[in-house]
Amino acid sequence: MSLDSFALFGLLQHRFSAQGWWPVSDEPLGPASYKKRLELTEAQRLEICVGAMLTQNAAWSNAEKALANLKRRRVLDLDALSAMNSKKLGGLIRSAGFFNQKADRLKRFCGHVKKNHGSVERLLSRPLLIVRKELLSLHGIGPETADSMLLYAGGHSVLVVDAYSRRLVQRVFGKTMDYDACQSFLMKGVPTDSEIFSDFHALIVRHAKEFCRVTPACEPCFLRKKCVFARK
Ligand code: SF4
Repeated sequence: MSLDSFALFGLLQHRFSAQGWWPVSDEPLGPASYKKRLELTEAQRLEICVGAMLTQNAAWSNAEKALANLKRRRVLDLDALSAMNSKKLGGLIRSAGFFNQKADRLKRFCGHVKKNHGSVERLLSRPLLIVRKELLSLHGIGPETADSMLLYAGGHSVLVVDAYSRRLVQRVFGKTMDYDACQSFLMKGVPTDSEIFSDFHALIVRHAKEFCRVTPACEPCFLRKKCVFARK
């Protein structure tokens, strides 16, 4: 039987179970943890948005160190981040790489939210396409970052596509796609549900780290029999 995106989701879910993305802190200064949350606080929504910007071109572990620094200094809020000196902010997020550029982007994002919406919740609580268009118009926010904010901080039903997703689609289905095409392909046939999309993205990342690495571990991979790349 051929594989479609919903069947792929089922196989990933069966193998790994729910991942509880996106990791956020339950305490203002606490470490981020992975678990299902019914409701997010404003601080958690901002933590997700800032994390999504910090992890651009950076391993999550390095973005996490930068986030921990911001929490330790008690500056992970719209007022403090938008008002902070760029150089100082860059120093706090150095571990995330491209820190001057990211400091500038963070300041602009927080300033925009503060001035135009007052809170991340108000920014994200409007219709999906309107918020997505606005996010994409902001400096340094591309589709992956915008969709991460929309899905994980805003609870919108949209799938995040990253390099892992595109690599998996290319190998399993033999299709090379850009962001939008890959997103449509993976969302097609999958129930439009933010919890499912959260888990689908998280499961793809988990699979990419354990099996479908740059040099893939096809032999033990449970997708082997359905994968175009492995069958070749
Ligand atoms: S069989 Fe190999 S190429 Fe295919 S999904 Fe698994 S690890 Fe990736």
